[in-house]
Amino acid sequence: MIKKILIANRGDVALRVLRACRDMGIQTVAVHSTADADAMHVRLADESVCIGGAPSAESYLNVPAIISAAVITGADAIHPGVGFLSENADFARVVDAHGLTFIGPRIEHITAMGDKVEAKRTAAESGLPLVPGSDGAVDTVEDAKRVAAEVGYPVLVKAASGGGGRGMKVAPTADDLAEAFSSARSEAKAAFGDDTVYIERYLDNPRHIEIQIVADSHGNVIHLGERECSVQRRHQKLLEEAPSPVLDSHQRDEIGAIAAQAAAKMGYLGLGTMEFLYENGEFFFIEMNTRLQVEHPITEEITGIDLVCEQIRIAAGEKLSVSQDQVTFKGHAIECRINAEHPETFFPTPGKVTNFHPAGGPGVRVDSFLYSGYSIPPYYDSLVAKLVVYGDDREHCLARLRRALDECIIEPMPTSLDLHRRLVNDDDIISGNYTIRWLEEEFFNKD
Ligand code: ADP
Repeated sequence: MIKKILIANRGDVALRVLRACRDMGIQTVAVHSTADADAMHVRLADESVCIGGAPSAESYLNVPAIISAAVITGADAIHPGVGFLSENADFARVVDAHGLTFIGPRIEHITAMGDKVEAKRTAAESGLPLVPGSDGAVDTVEDAKRVAAEVGYPVLVKAASGGGGRGMKVAPTADDLAEAFSSARSEAKAAFGDDTVYIERYLDNPRHIEIQIVADSHGNVIHLGERECSVQRRHQKLLEEAPSPVLDSHQRDEIGAIAAQAAAKMGYLGLGTMEFLYENGEFFFIEMNTRLQVEHPITEEITGIDLVCEQIRIAAGEKLSVSQDQVTFKGHAIECRINAEHPETFFPTPGKVTNFHPAGGPGVRVDSFLYSGYSIPPYYDSLVAKLVVYGDDREHCLARLRRALDECIIEPMPTSLDLHRRLVNDDDIISGNYTIRWLEEEFFNKD
């Protein structure tokens, strides 16, 4: 039994975990930096511990301080949330070594999936279809040229340790490869301390569709359908929906079963997301995230399954609450990521929120840590709210989303609310006719 959970995170995800704990009668310990003393997750937790200074390296990434906080407060498990230490195998190992339960997958899977070269190898062995590309890492420009000629241009040079859309460079032709290769390597080295890169065919106009996997320690593995995440800028998701406008139930069952079988073959445990690019009716695996995803609420809305509660129960050794046959997909859900950022430059716009009014009413869920008078610190991610809307079908969902976006107020800083208001009235969004390049190459070029 898990009685007390330390939440090693901040912002909306810390609140999300806290709410699941409340629903399950589990005590919570918040940790926070000096910049977050007034944060909502600190206010709402049963206990809180300051773990260091404002920069993440001193606080939310400070493993000894987090472990000490857990030991001092008598927590028996740690939930890492999303980002920060959530995909850090060393952290999971330290948590384990202190006799605490890490609420996440097995260490071996965090390690394997954290290295994308290794992830693709594991995925291929588990029967997943891959984007055509190099067989493992590519060390020299000559090797890169040979592989790219086989794979066919354009190609993408990707960092093995990549994340957040960084360390990725396109080479449209052979003439561009040397430059793409060296700049991907140096960006990867600077961002991740690892310059290992690999090569993939740069798919022309795919959609990003991912499958949610849930696995327990009793050998049960299910999928909870897909999330369509093609509305992206700089390879970062901005709006997600479930189900995808382009999959029918037959295709969903098929790719879902392939993903669940692969997870079973790996011996996977907990929540996992297999990300695919989808083009001309074919799926190509790109990576697996071994944690809760930012966009998990849309899956919760259409399945009625609380993913965080499920994750906690799995960590406590319990069986999945549902079998695959019991999973049903009902209605439609869309999530808008609301970032405190400039609408054109996307630079963060931290500062004091003078007025915050979340939307409400039927079908509307706002996961946010904002309140009027709160100062958004400049040190962390710019995501300040997730607006999640449910409707009986896609059209109903979009109508409710327009209503919710009109109600939302975050003042005085610019946020992505205005962009979302434009998006939900755009013909391509309304028809579901968009790919991963649509936002940057089409939408932003409309007048
Ligand atoms: P990260 O871990 O940095 O998010 P991913 O491998 O998940 O990187 O890719 C992020 C995004 O980059 C994808 O959603 C897609 O938009 C784009 N992308 C990745 N690989 C390819 C590819 N082979 N062809 C075209 N686009 C790609």
